[in-house]
Parts: sequence; C-alpha cells; structure tokens
Amino acid sequence: MLLTVATKRRRQFCVHVALLHRLIFLYFVLQDSDSDSENGGASGESEMDFLRHLLSRTLGLGSEKPEKVLDELTLDGVSRFMQSEKCRNVVCIVGAGISTSAGIPDFRSPGTGLYANLQSYNLPYPEAIFEINYFKQHPEPFFALARELYPGQFKPTVCHYFIRLLKEKGLLLRCYTQNIDTLERVAGLDQEDLVEAHGTFFTSHCLGSSCKKQYTLDWMKEKIFSTVTPKCDKCQSLVKPDIVFFGESLPPRFFTLMQSDFQKVDLLIIMGTSLQVQPFASLVSRVPTNTPRLLINKEKTGQSDPFMSLMGLGTGMDFDSEKAYRDVAWLGECDEGCTALAELLGWKNELEELVKKEHSAIDAKSGQAGEAGASPSLPPSGATASPSPPPAKPGSSPQKESDAGSKAE
Ligand SMILES: [Zn+2]
Repeated sequence: MLLTVATKRRRQFCVHVALLHRLIFLYFVLQDSDSDSENGGASGESEMDFLRHLLSRTLGLGSEKPEKVLDELTLDGVSRFMQSEKCRNVVCIVGAGISTSAGIPDFRSPGTGLYANLQSYNLPYPEAIFEINYFKQHPEPFFALARELYPGQFKPTVCHYFIRLLKEKGLLLRCYTQNIDTLERVAGLDQEDLVEAHGTFFTSHCLGSSCKKQYTLDWMKEKIFSTVTPKCDKCQSLVKPDIVFFGESLPPRFFTLMQSDFQKVDLLIIMGTSLQVQPFASLVSRVPTNTPRLLINKEKTGQSDPFMSLMGLGTGMDFDSEKAYRDVAWLGECDEGCTALAELLGWKNELEELVKKEHSAIDAKSGQAGEAGASPSLPPSGATASPSPPPAKPGSSPQKESDAGSKAE
C-alpha cells in the first residue's frame, strides 16, 4: 500500500505524541516512587533507578553509551568473556526446554496433548486442575494426573550438569528455574544456588493453616501411587506439593533475590525458555545495560516489542539490529549448546565425565531400588512429565509483584 506524505507525517506526529505521553507518565511514576522511597520503600528504589535509566536513555541524557563487553557477538565471544577477570557472576534463567531431553515434555509444545487428556476428570474447564481454589475442593483430578504423568526416572541433562560446572568453577551466582521437576537439585545444585520460581515437587506442605507440616518427595510419591489423596498425619488436612498453582503467589525468594542478583550479574545465560510467562520473562530486562545475554534455545525469543523499541524503551533482546551490542543467540538443543560452550571453555571432557559419573550413579541407585513398590509403569502415550501448571494465557500483561503469582505458570 502506498503511503502519502500526509499519512507519513500524521504517523510521525502520532509517534511524537505517544512518546511525549510516555515521558510524562514516567515523570509521574518517578515522582511517585521518590515519595515512596522517602517513606522507606526499599523496593521502590531499584524500580526508580530502572525508570531513571530508561528516561535518561530515551531523552539521550547523560553519557550513557552502552559499553560493548563482548569482543564479538558469538559463542566464542561469550566464552572469552567468561574466561576473563570481568566475568564473576553468572545468572542462568532456565525453562522446560532444558528438561525435554530428560523425557519431560514441554506442555507448551504442540502435540504433548496435556489438555486433551483431561476430559476424563470431569473438570468444569481444563485449567481448573491447576487452580488452587478448585484443588482445595477437588484434589483428586490433580493427583490422578500426577500419577499418570509422574516421571519414570529423574535424570538431569547435559545442560543441568553444565550449570553444576558453573557452580564448581565459582561462576554461578544463581539459577532461576521455571521447572518443577527437581532436576537442578538432582544435578547437584543446592537450595542456595536456586530460585524455583514456580515452586517444586521436591517438598510438600499440609494446607492446614495452623499446621503446615512439611513432607518429602518420597512421602508424596507413595501417596500418589497408592491413589490415596494425601492427608496430613497430624491434622488430616490436605497436603499439596510446593508447586505454584494458579491463584498462588510466586515464592517470596523470587522477589527478594531478584532485587540483589540482577544488580551484580556479569553474564546472563537464558536456556530452554520461550520467555512467555510473567513475571519470569521480565528478568532479562533487569540486568545492567552492559551485561551480555546469551540465549541457548530452539528459537530466538525475548526480543523487544517493536513499539517499545520505537519509543527507545526496548529492553528486550536485540540479536540482529545494527544497534545490537551484547545479545548472542545460539539456536538448537540446550544440551548441544552447552556442550559447544563447554568445548570453547576447555571444559568439555570435564562435563562429559561428570554426566557419565552422575548418570551411572543414578542407574546404580535405581537398580538397587528395583522395580518393587511404587515404581510407576509409564503410560503408553509416552508422556512422562511431572505435572506442571499450564502457561499463563498469552498476552497476559506483566503484573505487579504483589500479585504476580496469580497467573504463574
Ligand atoms: Zn497438618
């Protein structure tokens, strides 16, 4: 379609007006958070810095030209940076894609058919199975699904062990995971290394408000496979795995550590996530302007919304534009990406040895345990995932931190 000069001008005018509105809005937000901080609002301060930073960038104030930290926007460039003195704190952000090679499918991928299998549970609507209020009244469908999809084996992937190597090399500041499959823990990360943003199956708690007794994964597994609805030994209330249901908040740890970790991160590595679910997805925008970001994923993701870029407010990833200066995308399977990076770092043998050693230890252990007892038979469909609440509906807007968990994945 041909654009007349008048239309073009009108469009430019609209853009300018929109920009002006945005700046006025930011100005008032700044004023607001200023008065918040005066009242002692600690979290207001970093939000304010973030907005100030955006504002100064938008207006071209200050001499804030982003420094190019990587000598080259490639995996090689990232590996050289990792071996330099400048790289001390690596934060990993990971999602379902790092567990698919462990036989745990990503429910967002077409064809996994999670929702198609739910018809037999007589749910009012499919999402109800992961809603906390429905669960409290009718826990049976959730546990039936948990039994059906319980993984036959918990065997971390090459990618999980790569993160473990980062820890052993003293580089890992934190691993933020969306996964509830506990594979990070199985791979040898400690609770301190982890933020399990959407909770975990590793522990469970009694829902009795005055009891809240904690239960182990083994306890929960036994209940799930004995088809008994898990009830507390002490108070007979329902016991729920510590995964985040729709209608529940994300763990407080997510919000507290996010404040400090993302101020001192030197390199962000994002793996196996399509960055669709808030507030997890917004983590990529929280790093300092100079911090390089490496994406290892099947496809590019997390890029700036074109409208926001136009406003100069694009804090999303930029792999390809002329202005790209810090974001690197390595496209493919997470295990292969980690192996390629390990090779460049001179860690490949070490990584392979670690995987071999750990996997044979897991095999030996499961061999000892035998097939007796609660060991599940895998469903013929080949679905072997632990249950995970479905992704938030696409297009759900970023939420305030106070209620951010209400649409958690
Ligand atoms: Zn109890």
